[in-house]
Amino acid sequence: MSLWNQARRSARLNPSIIREILKVTEKPGVLSMAGGLPSPDSFPVEAMRQACAKVLAESPREALQYSASEGFGPLRDWVAHKMAAMGHRVSADQVLITTGSQQGLDLVGKVMVDAGAPVAVETPTYLGALQAFNPYEPIYTSLASDADGPLPDAIAALPHDAPGTRFAYLLPNFQNPTGRVMPEARRAALVKAAQAARVPLVEDNPYGDLWFDAEPPAPIAARWPEGTIYLGSFSKVLAPGFRLGYVVAPTELYPKLLQAKQAADLHTPGFNQRVVYEVIRDGFLDQHVPTIRERYRRQRDAMAAGLAEHLPEGSEWREPQGGMFFWVRLPEGCDAMALLPQAVEAGIAYVPGAAFYAHAADPRTLRLSFVTLAPADIADGVATLGRVLREHIEATAEIAP
Ligand code: PMP
Repeated sequence: MSLWNQARRSARLNPSIIREILKVTEKPGVLSMAGGLPSPDSFPVEAMRQACAKVLAESPREALQYSASEGFGPLRDWVAHKMAAMGHRVSADQVLITTGSQQGLDLVGKVMVDAGAPVAVETPTYLGALQAFNPYEPIYTSLASDADGPLPDAIAALPHDAPGTRFAYLLPNFQNPTGRVMPEARRAALVKAAQAARVPLVEDNPYGDLWFDAEPPAPIAARWPEGTIYLGSFSKVLAPGFRLGYVVAPTELYPKLLQAKQAADLHTPGFNQRVVYEVIRDGFLDQHVPTIRERYRRQRDAMAAGLAEHLPEGSEWREPQGGMFFWVRLPEGCDAMALLPQAVEAGIAYVPGAAFYAHAADPRTLRLSFVTLAPADIADGVATLGRVLREHIEATAEIAP
C-alpha cells in the first residue's frame, strides 16, 4: 500500500487528453490544428514591453508587493465599464480578478459544488471546465442542444428538489469546442427557463470579442444579474501568459468567491494586473482586437474552403462566426479518436470530440483550431485530413460484406 493516502478527489484529477495529444503533435512535421492556443503573432509584444518598463519605473514597490485579493482597483473599474458597455451594469465591487478564467471555474466549483450535487453542462462543453469541476465530484446533466445551444426544455427538466441543480454552465459565444453562438431568442428562453426552474447560471465568455461578422448579443448575465456568474478573460484578446481573467459575481455570492480566491493564491500577480491595465487603459483593445478578428477571419475562410474541397461526403460542419474552432462530424463509421494516430502519422493533428462530453460522446466529432496555422498550411492540413478520411472509408468499404 502506498505511503501517500490521497484524497478521494485526487482520483478525479486526470491528465488532460488535450495535453497528451499536444505532446504527440509537437513532433516535427505535424501540422497541428489540435491546440486551443491563440496565435502568438497576435500578441502585442511592444506594448507589453513598454508597459512592463513603465510599471517597474513608476510603481515598483506596489507592483512587486503582496496586494488585495479582489484585484487591482483600476483594472476592476475597467472590467465594470466593459461589462456596462455590453449591457451588463455592475459595480466594480462585483469584479474579482482571477489567475485566468480557468481559476474562476475552479473557484465556482469550490464554492458551489458538493459531492453528488447536480451540475448541468452543454453537450458538448469546454473540457477544461469539466476538469475544474470534477474534483468537487458533481453529477453532471448533459443539456440536450441544437445549433443555437442548449434547449430551454432541457433546463426546465433539470432536477430541482432542494438544493437542486447548483448551476448550468453555459458558453454563449463561439463555444469551445463547437464554435456556435447563442442567438438572442435562445438566451432569452434559457434565462426564462432557468428562472422558472431556479437554476443559477455560470456564463463563460473568453471568445465574445473575437466575432467576424456581427457582434454577439448582450451577455446572459445582463438578463439575470442576480442569477448569473460571468467569467471573462484577457487570454484571447491580449496574451494567455499573463494568466489574467475575471469573475463578475452577484453581490450575494461575491464574498465567498473572494474567500476561496484568498485561500487559493492570495491574489493574482499584481505586476501582471498593472502591466495589462497600463496596456489597455487608453483604448488599446479598440485597435488591437480588430486586427485579431481580421487575422482569424482569413484563417477561418481558408479552413472553410479547405473543408468544402477535401472532406468526404457525409461530413458535417458549420462555419463559425467567431472564435477559434471548427467542429466537424465525420461520416458514419468514422471514429475520430481511433483515426487520430493515422492522422498524426500523415502529418496532421486534431482533438477528438469525445474529450468534450460529460456523458455519451459522439465518436464521429472532432475539433479543429484555425488560428495557429497560416492559411497555406491550413489548406495543406485539411487536404491531408481529407485524404486520411477517404483512405479509411475506402478501406472499410472493401472489408464490408
Ligand atoms: N473557458 C473556455 C471556454 C476556454 O476555452 C478557456 C481557454 N482555453 C478558458 C475558459 C480558460 O482561459 P484562461 O484561463 O486563459 O482565461
